[in-house]
Amino acid sequence: MVVGEMEISRALELNQPAGEVCPRCDEPEAGLRPVRAQTLGGVPLHRCHRCGTRVVREDDRERFVFSCGSCGLPFLAEEILPHAEHRCDDCRSGKEVLEVPEDVLTGAMEEEARSALSLRWSFVTSPSLTIYLQRVVNQMESRIAGAPAGCRVVLVDDWSMRTLALPSGLIMISLGTLAFLEDEAELAFVLGHEIAHAASGDAAIRLVRLGYHAAASERNGDVDDVWTETVLDLVRLGYGRVRERDADAVAVESILSLGYDPVSVGRYLARIQKRIGAGDSELSELAAAHPPADDRSRRIDRALFGRSQRELAPKTNREVFRRAAGHHVLAGDLVPVDLTIRSESEDGDLTADTAGKGRLFWMVAAIATLTAIILSVGLYLSN
Ligand SMILES: [Zn+2]
Ligand SMILES: [Zn+2]
Ligand SMILES: [Zn+2]
Repeated sequence: MVVGEMEISRALELNQPAGEVCPRCDEPEAGLRPVRAQTLGGVPLHRCHRCGTRVVREDDRERFVFSCGSCGLPFLAEEILPHAEHRCDDCRSGKEVLEVPEDVLTGAMEEEARSALSLRWSFVTSPSLTIYLQRVVNQMESRIAGAPAGCRVVLVDDWSMRTLALPSGLIMISLGTLAFLEDEAELAFVLGHEIAHAASGDAAIRLVRLGYHAAASERNGDVDDVWTETVLDLVRLGYGRVRERDADAVAVESILSLGYDPVSVGRYLARIQKRIGAGDSELSELAAAHPPADDRSRRIDRALFGRSQRELAPKTNREVFRRAAGHHVLAGDLVPVDLTIRSESEDGDLTADTAGKGRLFWMVAAIATLTAIILSVGLYLSN
């Protein structure tokens, strides 16, 4: 595959601002393309780039989007809720299981997620790029407590900015994200943030919960489509402010321990804030999923305050990054990767099984239904 510089510059084109203002802080909206998440009924979602408030608008009706403080799932509310009340209906009524799900269930869900994503996204690589990305991800994995063993990176052939970690430590990063980065310290931060989601169990819990949601709400729909949209909601909605801040904190500590310059992270976040403010729709999903970049940057600065100069090492590996993953590399020959075939480092046989596609989905749906019945009976007996 050949990618021209034209495509890179097209990916960075800016859009015109829209006319709506944020209902919390009155900031005019940046004019990003609204994000439509299946989990929230597909209504257009906007996030204020100043205060981070998320709203969905439908037929002149405005509702707010919050992430549940217990299970992390997004939910809608008619008004702005105080922090203590950020809980979804299921968690409020004590219905849901919050623990990290069993490996077997998570593995089954991830397998479905990979197949579903392969229908919508194309994955690419080049041998030298793979070696380079793997070296950086290995380093980061070694510094993050609870990181899944054998994290690996695949590139999504897409010029918008998207990243996603699956529970096994498979990290998907779009060409647009890689093209946006300027040095290895920034890359290490982005990978560390994603590994942190996999390490904390956020990715597993969210994937399984969204899977239940999809199984429960779309039994008559096209299974592949439901699953793809469900998995893409992981990218569009993020994990909520608290979990996103935690992932930033873990990533920063890890890059510091490897001697990378945290100033690079500040530069990366400042560029994001600028692009979002200018209405660059390639950042729509990133903006919807994460707290405002200025807020992320302030928190990181606060965490670094008072650290010794010796600890704040100046390593950025800018030139190494440019040679290994710069624009000329992304514009070169990249080869397709089949995500439904596991690499040698992975166990088992994950050869494409088109005839059986959706079988696991229904298995999981059955498990979800059984869990719901058991929980209902439990609730009934305890009342
Ligand atoms: Zn606002
Ligand atoms: Zn909840
Ligand atoms: Zn995140």
